[in-house]
Amino acid sequence: MSEGAFVFMGGTFDPIHNGHLRTALEIQQWLGVSQLCLIPSKTPVHRDAPGCTSEQRLAMVQLAVEGEAALRVDEREINSDKPSYTLHTLKGLRQELGENKPICMVMGMDAYQTLPSWHEWQQFLTLGHFIVVQRPGYKLAEDSLMGDLTRQHRADNPEELLSLPAGKVLIHELTPLGISATQVRQTISSGLSPRYLIPDQVWQYIKENQLYGLTK
Ligand code: ATP
Ligand code: MG
Repeated sequence: MSEGAFVFMGGTFDPIHNGHLRTALEIQQWLGVSQLCLIPSKTPVHRDAPGCTSEQRLAMVQLAVEGEAALRVDEREINSDKPSYTLHTLKGLRQELGENKPICMVMGMDAYQTLPSWHEWQQFLTLGHFIVVQRPGYKLAEDSLMGDLTRQHRADNPEELLSLPAGKVLIHELTPLGISATQVRQTISSGLSPRYLIPDQVWQYIKENQLYGLTK
C-alpha cells in the first residue's frame, strides 16, 4: 500500500544505539514500507558538539545497519557543506521525490517538543508528515504549542498519513527503550561496557578508534 512513501529518521547518532535501531525497524514494519532511511546530521545545530567526528558517526550508522535490508543510510547531510538544517533536507527530498509522494519524518517525543526552536520549523508540515514515537521519560505537554499542533494535524492511523504527501502528525507507541546516546557516552567514559545498548560492531568501532574518552 505504501511502497511509495519515503520515511526517514534524522539524528546526531552520537553514537547510534539500539533505541534508534529498534524504533526505525518497528516503524518500517508498522507502515509496511520497504525501507526506512537514517540521515545522520553534520553539524548539530541544536545541541553540543558531538564526541567524535561526523565521519565516525556516519561509519557507526553504516556498521549498525549492515545486513539489514530494511534500513539504509543517507549521507546527504554529512556530505553537505552547510550545517544540517532539516528544512533544507526536506526541501531537497520533496524536489527529488515529486509533489505527491508521502514523506515521513520520524522523531522521538523529546525531539518533537523542541521543534519550535528549529530553523523555519513551521514549514516542515508543508513538506512532509511527522511520526512521533513515545520515548520513556517524555510526555506530550497537552497545554503547549506542540499540543495544539498535534490536535490540529493528528492522524489516527498510517493509512490516513500515507494517503497524503504531507501535513499530518501521527503519534505511535512502540517497544519502550529508555536508551540514550548520552547514557552510552557516559557509560563508556566511566570505563563501563555499553554492550547490549549498542550493536557489537559499533562497540568494536568505538574501541578501535578510542572514542568518547575511552582509553585502552
Ligand atoms: P543524545 O542523548 O545525545 O541526545 P539521543 O539518544 O537522544 O542522543 P539523537 O541522535 O539525539 O539520540 O536522536 C535522534 C532521534 O532518535 C530523535 O528523534 C530522538 O528522539 C530519537 N530517539 C533516540 N533515542 C530513542 C529511543 N530510545 N526511543 C525512541 N526514540 C529515540
Ligand atoms: Mg537527543
